Amino acid sequence: MRAAVIRQYRADLSLETVPDPEGEADGVVLKVLACGICRSDWHGWVGEHPKVKLGAIPGHEYCGEVVAAGPLARWRVGDRVIAPFILSCGECPECRSGQTTTCRAQRVPGFGEPGAYAEYISAPHAHNLARLPDNLTPALAAGLGCRVTTAYHALTGRAALQAGEWLAVHGTGGVGLSLLLIGRALGARVVVVDVVPERLAHALSLGAEQAIDARDGDVAARIIGATGGGAHVSVEALGIEMTTNGSLECLRPLGRHVQVGLPTGHTATMRINMNAVYMMQLALYGTRGMPSWRYPSLLDLIARGVVDVRPIVAREVALSDASVELRAFDGPMAPGVAVITDFAG
Ligand SMILES: [Zn+2]
Ligand SMILES: [Zn+2]
Repeated sequence: MRAAVIRQYRADLSLETVPDPEGEADGVVLKVLACGICRSDWHGWVGEHPKVKLGAIPGHEYCGEVVAAGPLARWRVGDRVIAPFILSCGECPECRSGQTTTCRAQRVPGFGEPGAYAEYISAPHAHNLARLPDNLTPALAAGLGCRVTTAYHALTGRAALQAGEWLAVHGTGGVGLSLLLIGRALGARVVVVDVVPERLAHALSLGAEQAIDARDGDVAARIIGATGGGAHVSVEALGIEMTTNGSLECLRPLGRHVQVGLPTGHTATMRINMNAVYMMQLALYGTRGMPSWRYPSLLDLIARGVVDVRPIVAREVALSDASVELRAFDGPMAPGVAVITDFAG
């Protein structure tokens, strides 16, 4: 099959013919229909993710069509499915408690095993997969493997965002846009922060009430002013120190910070304003992915039009365009995300 391989960090991905994946007893092999290009892929591509070695095939935000099913998998050839990036084992204490994103034996394609920048992918532990609804295109559904589900679980499974509360979103990339759209659907008032005017304007057009350009400084003070005392929930969606502190400091007393951006490599350890946490009596949540049993509730919101995920996807690209898209994460980006839908091109 055709796949994009990291042969050298920060260099163009190598387009190669590699052996087709073999399925596992409890898994499926998917023909990849769409794979989002996520900032987490960029962390691997620059060499800052401990699990992404040279020779890796990136790609963890995908959906596909079953071409082979193991004897223990309940899917059939021809089924179209969405895969959460965390494929949990279903057996460990965490899985049995329902907290499957913390599974001790989880498998994550693209991080330690072959990902979906390829024509085919092996997805073990296929009990995690969800059926791709007919009314959702593969390009839109790909985000339900990572960014849309991460945002949904951050707000509903972790911070328990309530209607009428102020939600601050630091960074309006794919997960940031998802946070905005889901936050609005939940009845929250949303303030977004970014450094790209075009992205701020895009967020305002999608229902953000306030858009703050971080280049003008004083982000936390301006959010506190705009929200009449601070955000109730603030989500950091980039994974760097400045925005993490901005997120903590923009909260009102007893506010909830959620760390969605991936701190890894040189940002794995940060200097955090712990005095704000203490004095304002803040809550800090880490979050990563979404337990797969939560798919029905999110898919229902999408099916009923309560959440419209279309504005998240800016363009569909070919596999050979992935290098350009990864490089784009180095600098300011236009609104919306890129999704690979052409694996021959
Ligand atoms: Zn991702
Ligand atoms: Zn488990």
